[in-house]
Amino acid sequence: MEREKDYMMSQEIVQNIAQIKFRILQAQEKAGRKKDQIQLCAVSKTQPTELIQVSAQCEIDLFGENRVQELLYHQSADAYGKKPVDLIGHLQRNKVHFVVGAVRMIQSVDSLRILEEIEKHASSHQIIQEVLLQMNIGKEASKTGFLEEEIQQVLEYAQTCSHIAVRGLMAIPPQRDTEKESRKDFAKMYDWFERLKCECGTTAQMKVLSMGMTHDFEQAILEGATLVRIGTGIYGTRMYKK
Ligand SMILES: *Cc1c(COP(=O)(O)O)cnc(C)c1O
Repeated sequence: MEREKDYMMSQEIVQNIAQIKFRILQAQEKAGRKKDQIQLCAVSKTQPTELIQVSAQCEIDLFGENRVQELLYHQSADAYGKKPVDLIGHLQRNKVHFVVGAVRMIQSVDSLRILEEIEKHASSHQIIQEVLLQMNIGKEASKTGFLEEEIQQVLEYAQTCSHIAVRGLMAIPPQRDTEKESRKDFAKMYDWFERLKCECGTTAQMKVLSMGMTHDFEQAILEGATLVRIGTGIYGTRMYKK
């Protein structure tokens, strides 16, 4: 019985990924963007190792995890196969040393203290850690991330950290009532992305604009996302352990 259920779930995941890939392609065409500019990040939080392994065989580009513990656990169980994994959830300072060097990118850098801590550990490992700066584009009290008025200074500070490479920006914009409104948030992010590239002379380094989730990734692509993070759309509704 369990086995049958697992098999059905695996099939569903394979189909879901194919569908998402198709929708990404369509949105990309609609936006008049070139092919292969958008990475699909499978957000595997709360999923069992076996299902993550199934998705690792599919056409996804990378995995995204929210929690350090889960990420390390799945990594040690070889769940991700050959696919890279990024941290996309809020990171506490006392956990930075677990992830520096263990992930491709830390997408969720949301404070100067975290930047400092990443620099410290990357420096002691003699590596360069790639990161994205997370922006709180909707100025929501419930979310972390840098505000528009501080992002430029933060990037300038990050550029003084010789063991950190800022690859771009990440955001989780507010849930809006209309498509038009949510596209505005994404457009704002794109503006910042382009502006920071020019003003900080980082055009070559800054390549990633991570935005768009299951409910809004097409709008994000229309506004210039280069990486979309899809959880529910691939794995179905998450089952949080009690
Ligand atoms: C959970 C999560 C996602 C995926 O959300 P879905 O709505 O399930 O696609 C994307 N980004 C972050 C930061 C998340 O925490």
